[in-house]
Amino acid sequence: MTPRAEGAPVLPIGLRLAGRPVAVVGAGPVALRRVSALLDAGAQVHLVAPEAVPVLADLAERGRLSWTRRRYQPGDLEGAWLAMACTDVPEVNAAVLAEAEASRIFCLRVDDASAASAWMPATAPVDDSTTVAVHAGGDPVRAAALRDVAAAAVENELRRGGVPARKRPAPGPGGGRVVLVGGGPGDPGLLTRRGWEALTRADVVVVDRLAPLQLLDDLPDDVLVVDVSKVPRGPFVPQERINEILVEHALAGRTVVRFKGGDPYVFGRGMEELQACAAAGVPVEVVPGVTSAVAVPALAGVPVTHRGLSQGFTVVSGHVPPGDPRSTLDWGALARGGTTLVLLMAVHTLPDIAAELLSQGMDPATPVACVQDGGLASQQVVRGRLDQAADLAGKVRPPAVVVVGAVAGLAPSPA
Ligand code: SAH
Repeated sequence: MTPRAEGAPVLPIGLRLAGRPVAVVGAGPVALRRVSALLDAGAQVHLVAPEAVPVLADLAERGRLSWTRRRYQPGDLEGAWLAMACTDVPEVNAAVLAEAEASRIFCLRVDDASAASAWMPATAPVDDSTTVAVHAGGDPVRAAALRDVAAAAVENELRRGGVPARKRPAPGPGGGRVVLVGGGPGDPGLLTRRGWEALTRADVVVVDRLAPLQLLDDLPDDVLVVDVSKVPRGPFVPQERINEILVEHALAGRTVVRFKGGDPYVFGRGMEELQACAAAGVPVEVVPGVTSAVAVPALAGVPVTHRGLSQGFTVVSGHVPPGDPRSTLDWGALARGGTTLVLLMAVHTLPDIAAELLSQGMDPATPVACVQDGGLASQQVVRGRLDQAADLAGKVRPPAVVVVGAVAGLAPSPA
């Protein structure tokens, strides 16, 4: 059925705006929302307004759009394929619309959609190639509400595998490929949208124990899940075998998601997996993840930097203690570096690490926070001083992130 506004039939349509000039009159908060959508569609945006909200002024400064810094004048729409009247002065918007009509340029009007020759549907991106758009007779509130219903239904259907989204032909020998997805620290809400999209398209998901594994339950039953978790000091699948598994499935034409905890490139051996795939001619995409090095302290209320306290942070692995022949770290430099120290895989080695930092001159009163199971129901935080680190380590079990530095002593309300 053709949607109608005020009795007039409307044709829902998709505009290809890449490289095409679009005139936007007004540069307030409403214009900001429209301009973001236009830039996303690749349009050449020309703003006309005496003043602009800071984000729009900044976009102009960075050359992402052009800005004529004065009031609208007739003729400003020249050369545009589309116009948007976004000021809060109805007379100006009416004048913009009048010029657009005379020049046969479609024009949206924020204050009076029904008077305009075009209007924006309420939209929601579902994935790279799919957008849900709803027109509701020029009623933006109703359109937004229905958009949410429609987008949720579409997302559900994709998740259920009811739509052939993951059967798309892909490049590579036999059409297979590998996506290295950083899953974040374990809370499903901290997986990126792109990571989730990749999961919904996977034929095979090769998982680590620290990825947000609850999400696997939402995948269609025919998705093959391969568990290659490395349990510290426990059973593990050697990395070479993991690489082989990825390559074998991809060469058999499958879309393989390598679902990892945190970010694939932070102590995640992501590059080794990428190189193994590249050597076998398998295309690889990398989806960065929220790394536990930053997110786990944040979830426990510890910022890795803070003005006046810490001008940087250093993330190191504590999987081998100081002095171990396999260690390549200069602990003296770390002790004197003045940055926040973020230690991963360091629960067992923390007593040795703390002793080393102290012997290298670090202040025994330096605050330490150990955060176990960040973002999970079992999250626990223990805080203390560097000279109590051995005790603290005894109170947590892996996985945990240890923060050493003044930021670990911060509280929401300054004492
Ligand atoms: N690639 C991951 C890190 C892998 S190394 C990332 O970017 O986060 C594994 C270490 O990460 C663990 O030993 C622990 O130090 C840390 N870690 C990962 N998830 C964690 C969580 N939810 N809570 C606490 N520490 C976590």
